[in-house]
Amino acid sequence: MTEKRCIINLLRSPRLAWGVLAAAVLIGAAAALHLFSADTPQPDERLTAAARGLPQYDVTLKLLPETREVSLSETILFRNGTGDPLDRIMLRTWLNAFRREETSPAAAEEMYDACYPEGFSPGYLTVHDVLWNGSRAAWRYANGDETAMEITVPSLQPGEEGTLTIRCVARIPECAHRTGGLNGDFQLGNVIPSLALYQNHVWRTDEYSAVGDPFLGDCANYTVHLSMPEGYTAACSAKLAKGGDGLWHGSVPAARDVALCLSRDYRVSSARSGGTLVEAFAKTQDGARRAAEDARKAVETFSALYGTCPWPYLAVCSVDFPFGGMEYTGLVMIGQGNFLDSKKDTLELTVAHETAHQWFYALVGSDQVNDPWQDEALCQYAMLRYVAKRYGQGSFETLKYYQVDAPMAEAIPGSLTPGSPIDYFGSLADYSSVVYGRGAALLLALDEWLPDGTDAFLRDYVSRFAFRFATRQDFESLLSDRAGKDCAPLLLDYLDTAH
Ligand SMILES: [Zn+2]
Repeated sequence: MTEKRCIINLLRSPRLAWGVLAAAVLIGAAAALHLFSADTPQPDERLTAAARGLPQYDVTLKLLPETREVSLSETILFRNGTGDPLDRIMLRTWLNAFRREETSPAAAEEMYDACYPEGFSPGYLTVHDVLWNGSRAAWRYANGDETAMEITVPSLQPGEEGTLTIRCVARIPECAHRTGGLNGDFQLGNVIPSLALYQNHVWRTDEYSAVGDPFLGDCANYTVHLSMPEGYTAACSAKLAKGGDGLWHGSVPAARDVALCLSRDYRVSSARSGGTLVEAFAKTQDGARRAAEDARKAVETFSALYGTCPWPYLAVCSVDFPFGGMEYTGLVMIGQGNFLDSKKDTLELTVAHETAHQWFYALVGSDQVNDPWQDEALCQYAMLRYVAKRYGQGSFETLKYYQVDAPMAEAIPGSLTPGSPIDYFGSLADYSSVVYGRGAALLLALDEWLPDGTDAFLRDYVSRFAFRFATRQDFESLLSDRAGKDCAPLLLDYLDTAH
């Protein structure tokens, strides 16, 4: 995710000599005007190999805009790969956090008015059926905000498999957030119930904090079927195509999650980088064209730096929310304020940060609850490298000043450090300065410290942990290996020491 403040500060500064970037926004216009006409590139061998043996989701959604509901039917083919015998399976039902003001991540004081301009609006799941191998299964919510759904299953030995079926109705809040939507738009981020992360012999059931992105998951294969009223356009982590049955269908292999954005006002533009088709969905054709081009350039740059983007599709969606952006596998949400003509450079930076999450979050998973720096600081660093590669050292230095040097000089309350877990942070502003800004300082320092520099290290990191989950220890061990010396003191200084 990106928080809005740091980018706004960047733009408002009279000292910003960054016109070079705005002037250099060149558009691949010929590619950008297609509307669903481009063929989706197929998954390559690496993605196909990564998809083997993963849980298989088959999800059917029906949008009912008049009642702000999505009827949802889902089957998960689950093979017990935990190594432990299981008699419970845990799903994350994040939408339920939006049921009450006390638990809604959008109802924190600093963002309430921006997220709920018409007052509070609840979001929740109404569960009708839970079946295991076709028979009714007992279930309960395992935590207070009902975001962890525990399903009892007959003893499932390691390697055994079964099919979980859930039929429910999702009530989507009228809320400017990754989960919600205003004025007839729908953002379906973290709406589809998904398997919790199984780690150290237990299912993780972290709570939904207002700051940060508490979503953890292993990769799975998704097939999506969508029904929506005439006039709506849908973006999805999977490229959708209309079938003879009137439904929209798509699939995405080895994804950490799947999100959708639906609007009656979307204009669509496409571009292509290597094996990845980018489609941008925005409220104006020009906005869609610019976002598609920005995403194309980001995919191209990060593919060169950190290894080819493994997914054949990326949707970039304009969304009415008070944040910079939000990432999912195959889909990124971008705050619609970034699409103003006067914000072209902000749009490009935000798209770059969110696109970097395809590598640092989607491809290499990490603990976003306890080590949020491990994807956010890396994406912030990647964004800086994007600017250096595209616009040269001068632009890089200018951006570094605002995004890293200034947060390093800021007065931060308490003992917050970049290595802090998300629930230590009381405000988005502190979170952004510390985890993104000061966190990125670590990656810049590593560039001096490592014999081959940070980019080569990150490329190795991506290659080794692709489609897996990398702990901080994994990051540290690889770093020490690459450097040929113990990196622990350096990480302690940058991640765990309050300055
Ligand atoms: Zn982010």
